[in-house]
Amino acid sequence: MPIQALQVQRTPFYYYDMQLLRDTLQHIKRLAEDKHYAIHYAVKANGNPRIMDEIFQAGLGADLVSGGEIKAALAEGCSPQQMTYSGVGKTDWEIRLGLDNEIGCFNVESVPEMMVINQLAMEMDKTAHIAIRVNPDIDAHTHRYITTGTAHNKFGISIEDLNQVISLALTLPHIHLRGLHFHIGSQITDMQPYVMLCDTINGLLRDYEQRGVTFQMINVGGGLGVDYDDPDNHNMADFDRYFGTFSQHLQLRQGQVLHFELGRSIVAQCGSLISRVLYVKQGRGRQFAILDAGMSDLIRPALYQATHQVQNLTSTSDRLERYDVVGPVCESSDTFASDCMLPTTQRGDLIAIRSAGAYGESMASAYNMRSLPPAVFSL
Ligand SMILES: *Cc1c(COP(=O)(O)O)cnc(C)c1O
Repeated sequence: MPIQALQVQRTPFYYYDMQLLRDTLQHIKRLAEDKHYAIHYAVKANGNPRIMDEIFQAGLGADLVSGGEIKAALAEGCSPQQMTYSGVGKTDWEIRLGLDNEIGCFNVESVPEMMVINQLAMEMDKTAHIAIRVNPDIDAHTHRYITTGTAHNKFGISIEDLNQVISLALTLPHIHLRGLHFHIGSQITDMQPYVMLCDTINGLLRDYEQRGVTFQMINVGGGLGVDYDDPDNHNMADFDRYFGTFSQHLQLRQGQVLHFELGRSIVAQCGSLISRVLYVKQGRGRQFAILDAGMSDLIRPALYQATHQVQNLTSTSDRLERYDVVGPVCESSDTFASDCMLPTTQRGDLIAIRSAGAYGESMASAYNMRSLPPAVFSL
């Protein structure tokens, strides 16, 4: 969208480049179809209806983490067979909603959860298709708030306990065990943790085969990272290397389907948060560009110390100056970038905070009683 068109909008707003989203989806589909991989989109990354619609139309399934997300994915036309439902704290109504719609898979995170799913399925005269989420104790070397696959965190069942849990699953009459599920973290750009994950899975498949237990599917979760520093030169995640890592290292059995649950890598780069400069304030030895967008609209910098590229879309100055780019919310952590070099910036300039398509709009809050920004889409 040309800048002139952006300027007439009230700020702040989320801007989505739909052509980039479509190109990304086509690229993923080409790679996945070659290898018969099943790709589920992790809706929590961005649940905007237009974004979901584009993704489901491209044929991807959905990875869901709440009843609200199940309803939203149903409303956008995702087929229930292509839905997986993850999360450590599924409530009874959410489980019933999944059973009622006969979703493809519950990713089960604990024994008590599995017992409740079996009980509710019995009451509804249904069979629940499940995968057991395994905690492989692999450190993805990402921020500790987005690391999910080590022994310290709440997710999944440890490998030591897995045998017992699988034996139990096989005895429950309303549970059908489809496979194993893993998700080791997010914003992972080094493939080494994924190679370790493949080695762990290969070992488990060998062990269980010897015991006569086979799995229809293996789900390796998501977590592929994007380039937050240079979104213009790397506007797509490195899907080739990512899928290539699994096809090289994972020894799938005949007929076994490999599932992925990608969120960030599909939608991060197509979104920007567009904001206007309210004031440029001279502080002691630093100057602040104060925006009309804040942490309530994009919480990643405040929550994970994440960095996003900040661009001034309208300045015509060829002089670069140093700014702390901050929001209006009453928290010191409401800072998008410190020591950011921008062309001389003035009140009224339009600012793009890039790579905001994932965990931006979906994590927005009304803190400080701010209203939620609208979304604007390219053609
Ligand atoms: C969040 C999540 C994902 C998606 O993670 P990304 O880093 O956005 O790819 C996949 N699977 C599960 C179980 C999740 O919780």
